[in-house]
Amino acid sequence: MSAAAAVGETPQELVIVSLYPRDMNIYGDRGNVLAIERRATAHGFVPRVVEVNPGDPLPETIDLIVGGGGQDSGQGRVAADLALRADQFRALADDGVPMLMICGLYQLFGHRFVTHTGEELAGIGVLDVETRGGSERMIGNIVLDTAEFGEIIGYENHSGNTTLGPGSTPLGRVVQGAGNNPNDGVEGARNNNVIGSYLHGSLLPKNPALSDFLIGEAARRRYGSFEPRAELNETVRRARESAKRRPR
Ligand code: GLN
Repeated sequence: MSAAAAVGETPQELVIVSLYPRDMNIYGDRGNVLAIERRATAHGFVPRVVEVNPGDPLPETIDLIVGGGGQDSGQGRVAADLALRADQFRALADDGVPMLMICGLYQLFGHRFVTHTGEELAGIGVLDVETRGGSERMIGNIVLDTAEFGEIIGYENHSGNTTLGPGSTPLGRVVQGAGNNPNDGVEGARNNNVIGSYLHGSLLPKNPALSDFLIGEAARRRYGSFEPRAELNETVRRARESAKRRPR
């Protein structure tokens, strides 16, 4: 049984920030927030989701941050707000707060995003990546091979081409699909507990191992330990099996 739900103990809360859901929520990105909320509950925690839109205060306690993608115009709206909070986000990342940033926010957690019209949006440089808008969209189902989480499956839809600097490692190797760009054969970026990826709102619903990593790191940081519920490993196994059965 998870420490979070031991009999007689107060249930442990996890504060999950849903970052810019008004502007950055496309291709089902809210699915990631719902999945992590449900998964944290299943592990015995009491998740509290706090939506933070431009201008809103950040909660005093933050255990985990999840952000989504959006159109270039939505990115323009949030980039200025993000710049004002850059130091805060960098400090939280340095302090080990797990974060999952998808597509548009993945790009803005890098150094910069230069749109296909040449407009430059400054990022906050938590991830050592930069992105240039291209003329071709990379759309479709994608499969990755990762050392830590096994096979990851998801859906990508972007025209930005992202390249990694030496300060970040890729999330995975592309088995099917495009990933960061059509040439490098890798997808996403990672610095400690911060993960950026192009895989949208089906990422956590389809890959519970990734949710467990984020929840585990959040719990260890706040409460000193994480004992995953053993029976939940079965859902990881079943998700993998069903992913393999589907035609690609
Ligand atoms: N505008 C960015 C791109 O196409 C982000 C798109 C998205 O978040 N889906 O690269």
